Parts: sequence; C-alpha cells; structure tokens
Amino acid sequence: MILAVTMNPSVDISYHIQDFKLDDVNRVEQVRKTAGGKGLNVARVIKQMGASVIATGVLGGTLGDFIIKELTKSQIESNFLNIHQESRNCIAILHDGKQTEILESGPTLSLADGEAFLAKYRELLSDVTLVTISGSLPKGLGAKFYREMVEIGQEIAGVPVIVDTSGESLRQVLTHKVKPFAIKPNIQELSQLLGIEVEQSMSSLKQVLAAEMFQGIEWIVVSLGGDGAFVRKGGNFYRVTIPKIDVVNPVGSGDATVAGLAAALEQKQSVEDTLKTAMTTGMLNTMEAGTGYIDYSKFQTFFQLVQVEKL
Ligand code: ADP
Repeated sequence: MILAVTMNPSVDISYHIQDFKLDDVNRVEQVRKTAGGKGLNVARVIKQMGASVIATGVLGGTLGDFIIKELTKSQIESNFLNIHQESRNCIAILHDGKQTEILESGPTLSLADGEAFLAKYRELLSDVTLVTISGSLPKGLGAKFYREMVEIGQEIAGVPVIVDTSGESLRQVLTHKVKPFAIKPNIQELSQLLGIEVEQSMSSLKQVLAAEMFQGIEWIVVSLGGDGAFVRKGGNFYRVTIPKIDVVNPVGSGDATVAGLAAALEQKQSVEDTLKTAMTTGMLNTMEAGTGYIDYSKFQTFFQLVQVEKL
C-alpha cells in the first residue's frame, strides 16, 4: 500500500468561455469540477495502475467534502485530517486558446493542526510500504514540515519517502541529514534550487547532481518533458528516452511519473523496468484531457517503446 500525501488539496474548476471579457459579465455553460492537488493526481494514477493507495493530507469544509466524494467515486481510500476551515478552489478559465488561472492560497494551518496531521501520518505509516509527498505546503506550516515528514517516515517507521516539491521546502528536505529515498525534479526546479540556469545536457546534469545536497538520495529522476529523463540511481547514471507522442494535456505528467515510480518501487521492479514504468505513466497522462489521469490499457504498448541507457 502506498500513502499519497497532499497537504493543500483543491477543488479545481475549469470554465470554458469562448470570448472572455474583462470588466463585464461572462456566462459559463461548460463547467468542470474535479479534486485537485498534485498528491491526488499521484493517488489517482496509482489506482488506475491497479496498485493500492491511500490518500491523506489536510482538508475542510464543503470543498473538503467534495474532494472526499470525488475520491470515493474513484474508489480511492482516504484518511485526511479535517480542519474547521474551507479547502481552496483553483479556477482555470479556458478562453481564446489561452488559460487564465486564479489560485486561492487555501487555509492557514495552526501549529496544532500540523501536530494533529503528524499524529495521523504516524498512524498511517504502520499500514504502508512507501510514501509520496507532492506539492506545496499550506500557509502556517514552516518550510521544514516535509523534512520532518521524511525523517518520521524513514528514520522512525522505516518507510521510504518520495518527495516532489519545489522551492524552500525542497531545499530544507535536501539539506537535512535524513535524505528522501527519491526525488523527481524537473530542470526548472533544479535551476531554482541551485540558483543557476541548469542545462539539459547529460554532462551538465551529472555535474549538477554531484552537489552535496543530492548525496545519499537513492533515486533522482530529473524529468525532461518530451525528452524523457536523466536519472541517478545509487552511483549509476541513466538516460531514458521516450517516443514522440501526440500530447493532449501535459499538466500532471510529473505527478503521473511519480505514481509510476512509486508503484514500480513498491513492486520491486528492476531499475530498467522502474524507469520505463515511470516514463510510461508520464506519457500516458499527456495523452488524456484529464489531469492526473491515464488509460492503463495502453501501458504495455508504450512501455516497450521506452529506452533506458546506462551511461
Ligand atoms: P513536470 O510535469 O513535473 O514538469 P515533465 O514535464 O518533465 O514533468 O513530465 C514528466 C514525464 O511525463 C516525462 O518524463 C515524460 O515521460 C512525460 N511527458 C511530459 N511531457 C511530454 C511530452 N511532451 N511528450 C511525451 N512525454 C511527455
């Protein structure tokens, strides 16, 4: 069983408006509301792969209820900390071939909320073999919150933790003595982390991953969008290439990649198969309109087209 963490989930609303007018009334007929947040995408894709997953995090109010209902519809087991504040809405307005987003920051958590979540997390750890932590932290929890979750997972419970976040909370995780089992940065996140423009070449990526903060992490999957991935596993480097495909919606591909990585690691697949699985779920996500959604019946076809080369 994999535990997928989303600390700041949302109800994602998309409005299709043909001719969007500022400072005027816009009526919407095509509305879609889904349970959003990176960890929920991870949970959905793991479920679609037929693996077992439990979703956790923090939510509240009627929007929190909606998120639980949506997860239940997808037959995803969940155990969230319920707070007395409303979860957030994230709105995407699709107009004139463009996408304008309005993102609420969500509730501000108290230290007591943080402690209550960690108590739940500790309990859940006894039933799972792997943890994924995805996305940003809600306001109120310090940037060291994920670092603490990694330490509790790995040092106390002995459960490997995959972290997919960015900015200061990623830096805090990577500069701690207890390293996560796996991370999946993209080039932009690596650049932000190191304060330099990271190049996509293999030699530059090898050099970048030699930095002190990356030592002791078993799996580093640098995802490269349509160019596949560059990977460090233990002391070895791999270049993973993927076929050209028709992309419908790339949003959530990184989350689908994390889901594939987690499911493959849980099944103790070989290094090559683990990387092929992670790339395939990422690709399958880009082929669907839904975010954090794959058509698993296409898995074998695309899995066979992924190439892993040891450098
Ligand atoms: P993130 O969403 O975190 O930025 P990426 O964009 O690197 O992550 O995508 C993760 C994975 O999804 C890639 O490694 C690849 O397998 C797949 N993917 C993403 N974009 C494309 C694309 N344009 N064509 C094919 N596969 C893609």
